[in-house]
Amino acid sequence: MKPRQYAYIYTIGCQMNTYDSEKISAVLGSMGYEKTYDLDLADLVVCNTCSIRKKAQEKAFSFLGKVAGRKNNKKDVITIMAGCVAQQEGENVFKRIPNLDMVLGTQAFSQLKTHVNAVRSSKTRVTDIGEHEQIFELMPDFSTLEKDKASRFVTIMQGCDNYCTYCVVPYVRGRERSRKPENIIREIEVLGDNGVREVTLLGQNVNSYGKKEKVCSFPELLEKISRIDTIKRIRFATSHPKDFSDDLIYAIRDNEKICSQVHLPVQSGSTRILKKMNRGYTCQEYVKRIEKLRKECPDIALSSDMIVGFPSETETDFQQTLDLVKDIEFDGLFAFSYSHRPNAPASKFSGEIDQNTKMARLNHLLEIQETFTSKKNQACVGRCESVLVEGRSLKQRKGNGQCIGDMHQMTGRTDSGKIVHFCAKDISLGDILEINIEQAYPHSLWGSVCDEK
Ligand code: SAM
Ligand code: SF4
Repeated sequence: MKPRQYAYIYTIGCQMNTYDSEKISAVLGSMGYEKTYDLDLADLVVCNTCSIRKKAQEKAFSFLGKVAGRKNNKKDVITIMAGCVAQQEGENVFKRIPNLDMVLGTQAFSQLKTHVNAVRSSKTRVTDIGEHEQIFELMPDFSTLEKDKASRFVTIMQGCDNYCTYCVVPYVRGRERSRKPENIIREIEVLGDNGVREVTLLGQNVNSYGKKEKVCSFPELLEKISRIDTIKRIRFATSHPKDFSDDLIYAIRDNEKICSQVHLPVQSGSTRILKKMNRGYTCQEYVKRIEKLRKECPDIALSSDMIVGFPSETETDFQQTLDLVKDIEFDGLFAFSYSHRPNAPASKFSGEIDQNTKMARLNHLLEIQETFTSKKNQACVGRCESVLVEGRSLKQRKGNGQCIGDMHQMTGRTDSGKIVHFCAKDISLGDILEINIEQAYPHSLWGSVCDEK
C-alpha cells in the first residue's frame, strides 16, 4: 500500500484567501494528499499569502523560510508559496528562500496538480504567475473541507478595477472578473445540500458584480441565491461606497434572507485624502449613502475600514476621520496604519507620516471606536435575537460559571453579525434559535434560548 501523503496549508490574509485555500486543499485532495494540522507530518506545505500590508508579507517569508530551511531533515517535503505575495514577487521569492519549490500566483491554482507532479518527478523549481482570463471553477469537495460549518464563504468575483492609490490588489489579483451566476448558484446548492445554511459572498467590490460581463446585477444575483431553499442567510463583503446602489438598499430591506449587516469601507473622513486615495466619493457622499441605508433599514449593522497615516494626512484630516467615526457610530471598524506597497502609486507620494504618529493616530481611533462597539453591543441587551448556531464556544463563559448538566456552550451570530454565546442542548449546527440577550461584552454577547424547539 502507498504510504499516506499529508498536506499542510497555512493561510494568511482575508476571507478570499480562506476560500482559495479550500480550493487548493480540494486539488491536493484529488491528488491523494490528506489534510494535516501537524507541520511535522507534512509531505507538502503551502503558504497562501497576503500582500495587502508589509507585515502580512513578512509573516509569509518568515514562515516559509523556516519550513523550507528544514527540508534537509525530511528531504522530499514540497514547499509552495501561493497567492498575492507569490504573484507580486515571482522569481524573486527564490532569492530569499532558495530551498522553496514553487511560486504559485493568484490565477494559477488550476495548474497546481501539474506543477506538483513536475516538482515531484524532476525536482525542478516552478514559478507560475501567469494571467488566466478564465476563473478556476471547482465545486466544493466535502472530503477536504473543514467539517461542520453552517456558514461558508463563496467568492463571486476576482480582481479589482478600482486602483485605489494605496492598494496592491489590482496588481496581484488582476482585472475584475465575475463568475457566471449559474456556477455560483450550483456551488451554493452543493453547500446547502451539505448542511450549510449561511453564505458570505466575496468580492473586492461586490456592487459591480456582473457589470462587465453583463450577466446580471448584484441585487439580481442576491435574489437568485435567496431562492435556494436550504440557504437561510446571505451576507456579502466588500461593498464600495461609490457603487452602493439604491437597488441594493431595497434588496436588503425587502429580502428577509439578506442579513442586516453592511461592511462599507470609507478609508478616511477627509475628502482631500479620499481624493488622493482615488476612492471616487466625498465624505459627504458617503454620509448620504449611510443616511439612505439607515432610513430604509433602521436595524442595519454597519462596519467599515479606515486607513490612518496616508501620505500627507494632517492633524485636521485625522480629526475629520475621528469626527466621521463619532458621527456615524459604526458597529465595528477595521483600522490600519498606512503601509507602502510596491506598484501602488501612493508609495511615491510625498508627505510620508512617521511611524510614531501613525501608531498614535491608530490607537486614538481604535480607542474611540471601542466605545461605539460596546455601546452597540449593550443596545442588544434585553432583545430577542435570531441566532444561527455555528458551533461550540471556544472560550468558556467568563463570570458566573459554565453551562450546567448536559447543556453545551454554543456560539452563533445574530442577523446583524454579532457573536452570541449561550447554553443549550439538543441543537444542531445551522439551527436558527431565538436568543434572549442578557449581557454584552466588548466583542460578543451572552444570552439564553427564549424559544426552546
Ligand atoms: N476592496 C475592499 C475595499 O475597497 O474596501 C477592501 C480591500 S483590502 C483587502 C482590505 C483593507 O485593507 C482596505 O479596505 C484598506 O482599509 C486596507 N488596506 C489596503 N491597502 C492598504 C495599505 N497599503 N496600507 C494599509 N491598509 C491598507
Ligand atoms: Fe483595493 Fe480599492 Fe480595489 Fe478595494 S476597491 S481592492 S481598496 S483597489
